[in-house]
Amino acid sequence: MVPEAVPRATGRRAARCFTLSAMASTPTTIVWFRRDLRVADHPALTWAASRGDVVCLWILDPDLLSRRHHQSVHRRRFLRAGLDALDEALRGLGVPLVVRRGPPHRVLEEVVEEVAADAVTWSDEHSPYGRRRDDRVREVLAGADVHVEVKSSGLLVEPEDLPGSSGNGYRVFTPFSKVWVETPVPAHEPAPRRLSGPEIPGEDLDPLGDGEPLLDAGPDAARAAIVEFIRGGSADAYDEARDALAEDATSRLGPYLRFGMCTTAQVGRALGLPGDLSPGRRAFWRQLCWREFSHHHLARNPEVARRAFQPQLADVEWDNDPDMVAAWTEGRTGYPVIDAGMRQLRQSGWMHNRARMICASFLVKDLLVDWRIGERVFMQHLLDGDPANNNGGWQWTAGTGTDAAPYFRVFNPTRQAQRFDPEGGYVRRWVPELAGVPDRYIHEPWKMNDDQQQEAGCVVGTDYPAPIVDHLEQRGVALERYRAAADAHTG
Ligand code: FAD
Repeated sequence: MVPEAVPRATGRRAARCFTLSAMASTPTTIVWFRRDLRVADHPALTWAASRGDVVCLWILDPDLLSRRHHQSVHRRRFLRAGLDALDEALRGLGVPLVVRRGPPHRVLEEVVEEVAADAVTWSDEHSPYGRRRDDRVREVLAGADVHVEVKSSGLLVEPEDLPGSSGNGYRVFTPFSKVWVETPVPAHEPAPRRLSGPEIPGEDLDPLGDGEPLLDAGPDAARAAIVEFIRGGSADAYDEARDALAEDATSRLGPYLRFGMCTTAQVGRALGLPGDLSPGRRAFWRQLCWREFSHHHLARNPEVARRAFQPQLADVEWDNDPDMVAAWTEGRTGYPVIDAGMRQLRQSGWMHNRARMICASFLVKDLLVDWRIGERVFMQHLLDGDPANNNGGWQWTAGTGTDAAPYFRVFNPTRQAQRFDPEGGYVRRWVPELAGVPDRYIHEPWKMNDDQQQEAGCVVGTDYPAPIVDHLEQRGVALERYRAAADAHTG
């Protein structure tokens, strides 16, 4: 007899279910971990444990590892530490994390055979690469008559569950957010009490490199960060303080969310949902909504990973001057706030959101460099580097994305810095050669006269670069180029 062992789910995930062809007395399920490095609030692991034996698997995918977007030393160290934490948590429950290397469809085929698994389960993933990879895996497993069970990705709402009135999702954030905030936050799902399964050999994680991560990894570290953010008062002050560059007023949860060491729902419950939130907590919850919006947007429009969402701005003429790109990347543009942001990124694997916007705008609209080049640099350094959020942030800033604001919004780096770093604390921290510059000139050191420069211990052009471009001039050129692209498109 062929038992229909699995109740069919709804939506896109249901379409991925195959019927079990055989069921041993204790069925074995492979749990394929990807961006879900936790054991609680993990529907795939819970499902597998409820069926019988489990093999918990991590696949080192050579194709993914070779991609430029995934070459970040910082992020790999953090990932490795997260995998160690996951292994420890799983061992505490009774099984190790087995690491194998190779193309996922091949590895899964082998492990299925090795342990006579009749099902494979994973948490869904929406990046274009992840989807292609998963389709290939499903094809191979279907050929082997193995059941595939795809569970929630860790987003509060999966893209297929929020189709919008067009059926093709939302193009604009505000209507999306109105529906999203009404979504109930699911109850906590504890880790399985005990896991058992066959012992099989595994490999090590050396291809990820070694070295200390810049940040503690794993769900315990994520929980500590959430607790500190809330108990320390930052969540309640978030609406007022989040843009202050010099303050440590944001949650730093990005890397944990990136690798599923925590979920949106876990953060929501910690904030006090369901229930009324203070204005600060509400503003913070809204940022998590931005995250989900970006994920939905990329899932529904995978082509934006490579080109502008707005077709009329797909062919802006860029300079892409390598010297300019290098000056920006290394934090020596002569614009203090830009240099502070880029140095913060390279040294700490993180950059303040406001600085991300200012630095991205500067690359695109002052240095006339294609936003995709900046997107890649960010991905190579950010601990929270994420294809959906990063692409969303870059296209938003470049004016080519979903944002309703037009492309002619150009950030003035000096005005932005004066507004969000009025005393220059952020700049002095990351650009120490400007430490002695008085507040009045901290964002425009080139305006000091010779005596003032001597007194500040910072001679512009010697100790710190003169501005590499003139902002107002470049702004004009950028707007002309955008206009020309839009005109050419409309014919
Ligand atoms: P908090 O302010 O504490 O916010 C909490 C969480 O909400 C964040 O961790 C993040 O998951 C989410 N979030 C906050 N703001 C945004 C936003 N604007 N868009 C989407 N999600 C948001 N975020 C990434 O997670 N990965 C990226 O690769 C990334 N690249 C970006 C590139 C550019 C050019 C820009 C302008 C923004 C980018 N962001 C990215 C969004 C945002 O800057 C970071 O999420 C945030 O700075 C991370 O710090 P935090 O965890 O302290 O954020």
